[in-house]
Amino acid sequence: MEKPEYAFFNGKIVPIAEAKIDIRTNSIHYGTAVFEGIRAYWCADEKKMYVFRMKEHYRRMADNCKILFLELPHSVDDMCRITLELLRSENYSEDVYIRPYAYFSSLRISPKLIDMETGFFIYTMPLGDYVDTTRGLNVCVSSWPRISDNMISARGKIAGAYVNSALQKTEAVRNGFDEAIVLTSDGHVAEGSAMNLFLVKNGIVSTSPTTEDILEGITRDAILTLACEELKLTVLERKIDRTELYTADELFFCGTGAQVAAIASVDHRVIGNGEFGSITKKIQELYMQVVKAKVPKYKNWCTEV
Ligand code: PMP
Repeated sequence: MEKPEYAFFNGKIVPIAEAKIDIRTNSIHYGTAVFEGIRAYWCADEKKMYVFRMKEHYRRMADNCKILFLELPHSVDDMCRITLELLRSENYSEDVYIRPYAYFSSLRISPKLIDMETGFFIYTMPLGDYVDTTRGLNVCVSSWPRISDNMISARGKIAGAYVNSALQKTEAVRNGFDEAIVLTSDGHVAEGSAMNLFLVKNGIVSTSPTTEDILEGITRDAILTLACEELKLTVLERKIDRTELYTADELFFCGTGAQVAAIASVDHRVIGNGEFGSITKKIQELYMQVVKAKVPKYKNWCTEV
């Protein structure tokens, strides 16, 4: 049977083919929706599946819905419970991506955020690598700056804001690159099109602060913790200039989809030796152990399905 077979839609689990929305749905027209992206990892040796930092994702979603006056029909605990139920219905034995989505289901026209009914759905799908994690990526600095917080807010994981990401990713790929690094409107490094960014220089690990028009990534947070607590590295959240990218010892992306992905070049400047940097490699290996619930100290980040 082709996966997914089911979705959670209008308050219940239904066959995916029945989870359809009306063409008049307000959020389709204006991008006024908030979503999440969560991963569940299949551990073949244990024959078990674990969802990574599920509660943190739903807490972020609940926070972001406040930005759009979107009233979630379910509590964070309920959304976690529903997600586990949905995953059990699918009975996966592979890595999976989970997409919860809250939107204005009203059929009334007009871009506004009041007096409208809301809808909520979740579906899941098999997902391997979102970007290649086995080699260094060749990336460019995008000519499309990140939307700033007082325009739409990258923090909000708002559907319409992802037109900005789509322009960045498309330009990069059409110009022969794997991904884009995105700058803020005042020219500092923000993040990737749909992932956060880390820079390593002289053994110090840096990433842009959450006030630099980034999504406050849950993977970013995990990596800050792992780099500091487990690898005993100095980690900084600080503003990063464009040319620091060119002279970095190592650069890597991180995100639920991207996982930990090394960067081999930026705007045709080779980073380090153009292969995997040693710190990137260590962080990638540790992260993949942690998400599969293999590191006892971080097992509380993993929810068994
Ligand atoms: N930035 C953007 C713009 C994203 O879309 C994502 C993916 N959700 C990330 C960063 C990484 O965030 P997380 O680690 O929470 O998936």
